[in-house]
Order: sequence, then C-alpha cells, then structure tokens
Amino acid sequence: MSDILSSKDLKYLLIDSLSLYTEDSRYISGKNPYCFLINKKTFYIFIHNVHDSGKGRTNTDECRIQVSKSKNFLAAQASGLPVLFLGYSTADNTFTAWDPLEQTKRINKKKVISLYSRFSTLKRAAENGLAVYIDDDKQVIVSFKPEYLGLYLENFQGIHKSNEENLLNLIKTSDLTAPTEEEVGEKVNLGKVQFVVTHRQFRRDPDFRVAVYEAYSERCAMCGIQLELVEAAHIVPHSEAGGKDELVNGLCLCSLHHKAYDKGLIYVDAEYKILINEPKIEYLTKVKKDGGFPKFSKLQFDKLELPRSRAAYPSKEYIKIGNKLRGIS
Ligand SMILES: [Zn+2]
Repeated sequence: MSDILSSKDLKYLLIDSLSLYTEDSRYISGKNPYCFLINKKTFYIFIHNVHDSGKGRTNTDECRIQVSKSKNFLAAQASGLPVLFLGYSTADNTFTAWDPLEQTKRINKKKVISLYSRFSTLKRAAENGLAVYIDDDKQVIVSFKPEYLGLYLENFQGIHKSNEENLLNLIKTSDLTAPTEEEVGEKVNLGKVQFVVTHRQFRRDPDFRVAVYEAYSERCAMCGIQLELVEAAHIVPHSEAGGKDELVNGLCLCSLHHKAYDKGLIYVDAEYKILINEPKIEYLTKVKKDGGFPKFSKLQFDKLELPRSRAAYPSKEYIKIGNKLRGIS
C-alpha cells in the first residue's frame, strides 16, 4: 500500500508537524521511538501507521496500531522521559494518541499490545481539527491534525483527562494565540484542567541580517537571485544553544531556498556542494506533496556561491550540526 509511511518518513512527518506549532522544536535522536525537544521539554514519540484490525474483526470502524517491546522502545523507557504512543493515518492526515500512562502499564506486562480507535473518529478529526474516542476502559483517545501535535506534547497529561468539548476549545485557543519569545506561553483553564499554549518565536538580530546581506551582496548563495527576495538564514537554527548570530553561521538565501534549507529538503555538504535530501523527497512523494519537484531540482547551482572574503565562509562545523538537526543523516 502506497499510503504506509516508513520509519524515516514518519520522522520527517514529526519534524514538519512540530515546526507548525513552535520554532523551539527539534529532533534529537533515536529511531522509533524518536526523541524530540519541544519548548525546552524532551519526549520520546513512538509512532506507527494506523491500520484496520485485520482478519476476523467484526467492527469495520475499528482501527489500531501495534506496539512491541523492541530494543529501542526499552531504551527510551529506561531514559525516564515520557514515551508517547501515536498513530498516523495518511488517508485522513491525522495523528491519534493513546494515554501513555495506561499503555505503559499494559506494555510492561506484555511483549506486543494493540491500541484501538475508530476510523470514524479519525475522519471527524480531519473535519474538525480534533476528535475524541472513549474506549470501554474509559480511556480518552484523541485524534488531531498535524498542527496540534506540539500542543498535544505540551499538554498530554491534561488532554487524556479532558473531553472533546474542552479540547475543541483548546485547539481554538491555540489557533488564536499569538507567537511569543517566552519559554512558556498562554495558560488556559478548561474544565478543571490547566493547559498551556506556547507558539515560540525567536528574536531576529538585525545586525546578523545586515552582515549576511553584505557578505553575499544580497544574492542567494544557492541560485544567485537578488531582486530583494533574499533572507539571512541560520545554519544552526537559532533555537539551538549553538545557533549564534555570527556571520559564519549565516547563509544568504532567497525565500524559497531558505525554506527548503530549513525544512531539510536541500542541504550543503562539507565541500559546499548543494544536495537534495532524497529520503525527504521519498516521504513527500508518499504524502502526495511532491508537486513541482522536477522544476525545483533545476533551480540551484551545484555548489554554494560563497562570499568574496574567506573569513565570511560558512563554518563547516556548523553545517554538520545544522544538517543533523534537520534530520539529514
Ligand atoms: Zn535561491
């Protein structure tokens, strides 16, 4: 089936989805469960494609994921960090999350567990942004659109104690909450539960921009375009401790290449060669978001167009770190 995403695809899906919520998000390490940092908190995310329950099922609305106690899973659990259980449906473009407290108790007793929900709940989530299914054990299972994945991570404990009405209000609040430079954003009380919504945005340093523009003569280092369409891009993102506003951590890129670089669609190696990140293209093809790729792939040079001054060349060390943070391996 073409709509089943591989482990690597799911990693890119998580990176993309979390960046919709906050700039303070990044992939750290791990392979299913994946370790992510969101608004200064660290989580493991275990994720699988949601599928039907298989042979012999009586309820055609029933869907599930299966979790097995793999080596990676046990290592994540041993870290003491929260391990969250997610399903993803490409057909509905929604995540489904099960209560990690309940599921951890179950998996501690068994090698493989099945986590169930309903296809109709996934469909409602695709329409309304979020939907809840309550199972026979009164577990609150929540499905939501990708832009709310960060909101879920920030509030997972409260979310599994809440209900659909309050959670629909929570996503509405998230939609209306303005970005902040603070580490903790807006506090919201819904029912008896307190939630927090943090759309973090980092301050841009105007001196950094001026220095980058000057070094590159306001020309995109990847395609050569000027036309007042360029931006000062950070190699190590400013969400990082090492993401400094120094010239050697900068690249002058047009808006298109800046976005493509930040999203890990395109990257630069230690020889300043410009390369397409093939696994990301494979992922985008599977989720049917690869339109225009042949055109895009012809836009850039083979190599970065570097500044005249050697001292302004991008740091190779930063390039290495930046690639890793964008999920390029
Ligand atoms: Zn460009």
